[in-house]
Amino acid sequence: MDFRPTDEQQLLRRTVREFAEAEIRPHVMEWDEAQHFPMDLLPKLASLGLTGIQLAEEFGGAALSSVDYCICIEELARVCPSIALSVAAHNGLCASHINMFGDARQKAQYLPRLVSGEVLGAWGLTEASAGSDAAGMRTTAVRQGECWVINGAKTFITHGKIGGVMVVMAVTDRAKGHRGISAFVVEHGAPGMSAGKKENKLGMRASDTSEVVFQDCRVSAAHLLGEEGQGFINTLQVLDSGRIGIAALSVGLAQGAYEAALGYAKERRQFGQPIAAFQAIQWKLADNATRIEAARLLTYRAAYLKDRGARTTRESSMAKLFASEIAVKAADDCVQIHGGYGFVKDYPAEKYFRDVKLLTIGEGTSEIQRLVIARQLLSE
Ligand SMILES: Cc1cc2nc3c(=O)[nH]c(=O)nc-3n(C[C@H](O)[C@H](O)[C@H](O)COP(=O)(O)OP(=O)(O)OC[C@H]3O[C@@H](n4cnc5c(N)ncnc54)[C@H](O)[C@@H]3O)c2cc1C
Repeated sequence: MDFRPTDEQQLLRRTVREFAEAEIRPHVMEWDEAQHFPMDLLPKLASLGLTGIQLAEEFGGAALSSVDYCICIEELARVCPSIALSVAAHNGLCASHINMFGDARQKAQYLPRLVSGEVLGAWGLTEASAGSDAAGMRTTAVRQGECWVINGAKTFITHGKIGGVMVVMAVTDRAKGHRGISAFVVEHGAPGMSAGKKENKLGMRASDTSEVVFQDCRVSAAHLLGEEGQGFINTLQVLDSGRIGIAALSVGLAQGAYEAALGYAKERRQFGQPIAAFQAIQWKLADNATRIEAARLLTYRAAYLKDRGARTTRESSMAKLFASEIAVKAADDCVQIHGGYGFVKDYPAEKYFRDVKLLTIGEGTSEIQRLVIARQLLSE
């Protein structure tokens, strides 16, 4: 067991950190206020390999490991959780689903475009009446000759409006329950597919979240992704790795909030001394630093196991559950340590506080993670 990062991993962390500080930090509040995802950042992300982190070199990808992926997402989230969320959805959901279950032709058609940053990827599972109970979805895909006709609507889709390629799950055989759900890959602009309402969000505002509507959207049989009826089962496997990404995002956000709190505590003086001299503040800092290390270890362990081909359902959910909940605490303490200055937009504390809540909700709420973990424990 070796806890030390390799030289390459240290260089990777430094490179992504410098990029995030130079290209993202100066614009964080501007993008947040405007609820704007900066499309001109895409080629820059691509030039660093961040739009195809784990994809094979034959598609132009960086072919990095799952642990490396965590380092990238962590470093982006430390500076801007919204951009990290977009990068995680693009890599960990859309590209990952196509890479894991697409056939050779589909991979060759879509992955190079996702990797080059020509298009952003989206992934549509959730519906207005089917969130945690995603298998209760109503969107259908009906086979008509050589085509599939998709009807329905997906809610809360990251890049629903600005994504160029979307993986969408739909019921192809209602009688078979979750074994009657299939995945399709659809390009934005396909006739019958349109973006609906763009959400006005509490946090993660630079990441586009929109409804996607399908009205008699006709796609050829070549758009079926993976085997018919396997879409939901494949989705669970995609989420096993996607959740490691959200855990890494949580660790990065918590780290950013902790560093902001630490820096402020050393500078802010009350009662004639820096507030960092007060034990009440020191304990908050110590508790957060400890919890962040624990979350990082859980996250890297899940990633390490995934890199070795293990099924990580339990480890991914544990990492996502723990990391997202300690990140909420880190962001809360960050605001508290800033006092009134934590409540205003001149300091980064309030943004971490707004962004963090998504992490206990997206890719399965904390309640659903506990349910997944308990199921695993009870089946052992
Ligand atoms: C910013 C953002 C981005 C997103 N991006 C995407 C995306 O790209 N693609 C996508 O498909 N989805 C996306 N989502 C959707 C997200 O995954 C869902 O919001 C999430 O899974 C929860 O579903 P829900 O909102 O319908 O809540 P519900 O399922 O209605 O849950 C409401 C509450 O009930 C609890 N609950 C539900 N069932 C149980 C149970 N069995 N036991 C105990 N408690 C339970 C939940 O934990 C929660 O507290 C995104 C959401 C947001 C906010």
